[in-house]
Amino acid sequence: MRPVTYTAAADVAGAISAVAGNPDAAYLGGGTTLIDLMKIDVMAPAHLVDVTGIQSRDPRLARIDEMGDGRLRIGALVSNSDLAHHPAVRTRYPVLSEALLSGATVQLRNMATVAGNLLQRTRCYYFRDTASPCNKRQPGTGCSATGGYNRMHAVLGGSDQCIATNPSDMCVALSALDAVVRVRGPAGERTIALVDFHRVPGDSPEQDTVLEHGDFIVGVDIPALPFAARSHYLKIRDRSSYAFALASVAAALDIQDDVIRGARLALGGVGTKPWRAREAELILVGRPATVDTYREAATAALRDAVPQRHNAFKIELAKRTIVRALTTVGRMV
Ligand code: SF4
Repeated sequence: MRPVTYTAAADVAGAISAVAGNPDAAYLGGGTTLIDLMKIDVMAPAHLVDVTGIQSRDPRLARIDEMGDGRLRIGALVSNSDLAHHPAVRTRYPVLSEALLSGATVQLRNMATVAGNLLQRTRCYYFRDTASPCNKRQPGTGCSATGGYNRMHAVLGGSDQCIATNPSDMCVALSALDAVVRVRGPAGERTIALVDFHRVPGDSPEQDTVLEHGDFIVGVDIPALPFAARSHYLKIRDRSSYAFALASVAAALDIQDDVIRGARLALGGVGTKPWRAREAELILVGRPATVDTYREAATAALRDAVPQRHNAFKIELAKRTIVRALTTVGRMV
């Protein structure tokens, strides 16, 4: 048995000093990832700092606010369910609502927080199996997936150290929407673009994000994007609920007179991080909103894909998912 100590933080400053000053401490929010991984010995913090009570002193952490400049400001402790069902999210950013509702189960979405979703760990089976070598769990031990069973793994952004996919649906939508993560650390507050928040594994796959130990996620801002009202999240998976993506697409199009004036495209299930497909967006803009254009964009989005032994199917699957998602968005009025 491994002893774990617990404190409930009264405010953000207290939480930061409790975690930043102790390398074995971790924040505890909804617990849907952390407690899960502690039970199977994949994560083993010696001290938990519960941040869920902070919202009584700082209600903004659990609030969704529409700002004067059109931004949507989302507190770190907002549940995935509350975010998915918020009227402004459903009408202004349906891609985000659909992404959230495609993840996990109702019970998990009720507990899981926005900050926790940003920090989800991979579902690579070897990462969760302490008997298997895994560079992400234990740096320098090797990657069991590269020579093992890798059907669920990434075709974009991998390295010889790790090919694990990022499991979040929410982050794929936030990537397409140019969201910004607000972070407070011992040195003060700063912002990080969502597209820069997660790391590709490179030589240090144990670091999923650019956060430093002790950094506290305050929330997420989504800029105003009127054409995001015409957006969609399409997730392809092995079963219709409670399953992670084999390929997913967050898409938004600004179409005027049958010509694409603006495009946002991000992929899930195929990359080592939520994958923004900027090259595909460039192909879409200025072109007629037709299936041929969508196919060309899909080809560009997967141009750099590197298949593993068991997951080459993901490349064609992702292309078809892109075309289908864009076609659906293109038909929206
Ligand atoms: Fe570990 Fe990454 Fe390899 Fe999976 S793919 S076994 S998470 S190093």
